[in-house]
Amino acid sequence: MEIEFQLVHEAIAERVSPPPPGAHGAWLEFRGIVRSEEAGQKISALEYEAYPEMAKREIRRLLEEISSRHPCLAAKVIHRVGIIPVGETAIYVGLAASHRTEAIALLADFMDRLKLDVPIWKRRALPVEDKSRKNHVPLAPSVSPPGGERVAARSGEGKFPAKTSMVSLDEALAGIQSHCRLLPAVRAVFEECPGRVLRETICASEDFPDGDRSTRDGYAMLQRDESETFQVVDTLHAADWKPRELKTGETVRVATGASLPCDNLQVVMQEHIERTGDQIKILRRESATNVRRRGEEMRAGEAVLQPGVRLGAGALALLASVGCTRPLVGPRLHVCHFTTGDEIVSPDRKPRRGQIRDSNSILIRILLQKFSCDVEQARLPEDFELAKSAIRNRQSAIDNADVLLVSGGASVGDKDFTRPLLEWLGFEIVFSRVNLRPGAPLIFGIHGKSSVPANQPVGSLTPAGRIRVAFGLPGNPLSHFVCFHLFVAAALVRLTGGELPTFRRGTLVAKLEDGPNSRATLWPARLQAAGLQPLAWASSGDVTCLAETNALIHVPANSGPLAPGAEVDFLPITIE
Ligand code: AMP
Ligand code: MG
Repeated sequence: MEIEFQLVHEAIAERVSPPPPGAHGAWLEFRGIVRSEEAGQKISALEYEAYPEMAKREIRRLLEEISSRHPCLAAKVIHRVGIIPVGETAIYVGLAASHRTEAIALLADFMDRLKLDVPIWKRRALPVEDKSRKNHVPLAPSVSPPGGERVAARSGEGKFPAKTSMVSLDEALAGIQSHCRLLPAVRAVFEECPGRVLRETICASEDFPDGDRSTRDGYAMLQRDESETFQVVDTLHAADWKPRELKTGETVRVATGASLPCDNLQVVMQEHIERTGDQIKILRRESATNVRRRGEEMRAGEAVLQPGVRLGAGALALLASVGCTRPLVGPRLHVCHFTTGDEIVSPDRKPRRGQIRDSNSILIRILLQKFSCDVEQARLPEDFELAKSAIRNRQSAIDNADVLLVSGGASVGDKDFTRPLLEWLGFEIVFSRVNLRPGAPLIFGIHGKSSVPANQPVGSLTPAGRIRVAFGLPGNPLSHFVCFHLFVAAALVRLTGGELPTFRRGTLVAKLEDGPNSRATLWPARLQAAGLQPLAWASSGDVTCLAETNALIHVPANSGPLAPGAEVDFLPITIE
């Protein structure tokens, strides 16, 4: 397939010329237009940003991959970046194919995958009142790299520059997103799927149900048969398939789920029937037909699951029903988690004065369960040289890890060696402090290739060719909790697919008692039907509120107390 891709700053022309006449019988054009609403707010424009080289490579890879299923002849993709006013085209896709079916199918798959796989971001939305560049609606936390045009499409750079000073919450998220790139998908059997993200569109293999089926144990007869009595001419169990026509006055005994022998039947429940020998009389007529019609739930070829869904029991039941036993999913991640701190003792020990029970290991282990990871956990001695030897003894675990997490030692105390340790392991530190409370001393580093060569066959990357990321997490439990949900979760999603953690709007049901603080705060809260109840916490060492926290309220820097009824952004948290 011929592929043409352009990233442009100017408006996309009203007319884009199709390929010269030839083998194609269909030329399908699609335009994605900027809508007047974003995240529930009226907007006047959206700003898009991209990594041109990566975007080009990904778009080519996607089109080639999808066209192996839906062969097309040529594709022309134009994506606009920069500020795009409402009503104007953000993306144009033109597809040439022999017939329309392939072009339509390819377009649907391509647009689904574009959002997941291609590094083109909505950077911000400009509100309707003010088009100034300063006043914007943040698309938190799905944000773009910091520094705006410094790393935007214009510059042609493909990387978020390493930043070692304090970064803002948005900058930290953008840094993580820009470095963590989707890993190749793999095919997995059901048992390995829970928690993994679907990376293909699943279509129904046949009509579902495959024919009209009874929803009751009862008797089937023609839909408008007004007869007083009926002759029972056959009995059908759920596994039977005995096609035959029914005449007026004839009926067949059917079990729940049985395939009906012909079209246009109704079923009367056996409770509403009186049977004598092979004769039945209807005691009560119902308006319901008690029939599940052919294709009522799904039609053959219809898309029933989209890429990006995290697979749970229900989705797997659907996959089983359509016979997809080895879906294409995100890879299972290998995570290595080290705890540090000589004061930390196992939870089954009684701590001496000055010691503290390890709560972070179980916290991280359980939080990772949602993402389907292999987790290896170990303690590191609080001495750089001893820690290095301990790591050398686990070299293969580290080499195989996609994600390395180190709890504690992320700050600048005498014994805080997480940063030098990560550097010693070959990680490039992207940032080491976030202007956030709790969770400021957060380190994020990357190691290895941050991109996959074009045309790399799916699943063929060796561990050494994978990008690996590391986080140095501040040791306090509340900081751990916040940093995991905001940052580690974002990295895991970027690596394996799925929806990034997204802030929602909510209302406080009680006062949020905070003094003005120069740092943005993520405040633990309980989300209830009535709204958000802020929970009490005094220090990032607090653990009591964690048991109840199912939301983190974003309190912008220097906000002060917030009154009941105040509208806030919050990050919902699933408590497993
Ligand atoms: P650090 O980040 O190493 O300076 O640790 C900050 C605080 O978190 C200290 O009070 C540590 O004792 C505590 N802490 C560190 N690791 C853990 C852990 N695994 N479980 C519970 N608390 C911890
Ligand atoms: Mg420590």
